[in-house]
Amino acid sequence: MSVDLQTLPPGFHARRFTAGDVGFEAYVWRGASPGPVLLVNGATHGDEYEGPSLLRRWADTWRPRRLHGTVVCVPVLNEGAFFAGLRCHPGDGANLARAFPGDPDGGPTARLAHLFDTQLLAQATHYVDLHSAGRAYELLPWTGFITHAPAIDRTQRRMAACFDRFWCWAGPFLPGRTLSAAHARRVPAVYVECRGRGAVDPRDVRALDRGLKNLLRVLGLVPSTTAPRLARQRTRTTTDADEAHLQIHHPAPHDGLFVPAVAVGARVRRGAMLGTLQALAGPRAVAIRAARAGRVVMLRFQRSVPRGEALCTLAPI
Ligand SMILES: [Zn+2]
Repeated sequence: MSVDLQTLPPGFHARRFTAGDVGFEAYVWRGASPGPVLLVNGATHGDEYEGPSLLRRWADTWRPRRLHGTVVCVPVLNEGAFFAGLRCHPGDGANLARAFPGDPDGGPTARLAHLFDTQLLAQATHYVDLHSAGRAYELLPWTGFITHAPAIDRTQRRMAACFDRFWCWAGPFLPGRTLSAAHARRVPAVYVECRGRGAVDPRDVRALDRGLKNLLRVLGLVPSTTAPRLARQRTRTTTDADEAHLQIHHPAPHDGLFVPAVAVGARVRRGAMLGTLQALAGPRAVAIRAARAGRVVMLRFQRSVPRGEALCTLAPI
């Protein structure tokens, strides 16, 4: 089904979007006067619970007295993966964050990407994708965006600054993401990464809630006579596409049991011991050493690790 947001009357609406056997619930707040169309979703990956927790609460409780424009929230974008408790959709094993802009004739993940892109991203003027480290990782929460033309980057930086409890990591285009589809549509977009560990840290939910409320004011959706007071945000902008590509750093050289030797947030020098990987057979654990100096911003939390999966990401912050 398709919904032209501009034809909805002012007020709160719940709509389900479907394409065959895939779909998602969306909540729409329509203001009485025109303005931006802000789209926010959680659970692009099914094992990330912070965004869904907050957005589902908003759907029940947030009833703004005055709204200029439209807010659309999709608490759980990837329902198949969410109910399986998995990062990827169990129907085809595909990663929704590598499937954009999708394909209406593809598998469930490609069809879901196409549905979200054509039905909602196509109508958005601003976009926020709420991620986390999921079940298998823990991270130092951050916000980020794909760098674009200067005018779009200025907006993206203002949007990221709203999430002022988190640091900001901006980098070049990577294909297949929700933000890649927004990039192609020239829609200013940011993502947020919460702590993960398969849980919901209340500090992260409060930080997300604060960030989204700041964003509503900064974009003019919620009228305010004063600008929000934002904490100064540590930012890192890179031109190296691999730097923030989290799945490629310190890959496990073989299957095994990972025991970290560092904590998330720690600064390490090049060559420092990050942890050990113990194969199930054989006498010795392999030391995993830092390939560069930096701060531990993501670390394997789940102890079992298949060969090739990332163990640790270090950022130069
Ligand atoms: Zn994610």
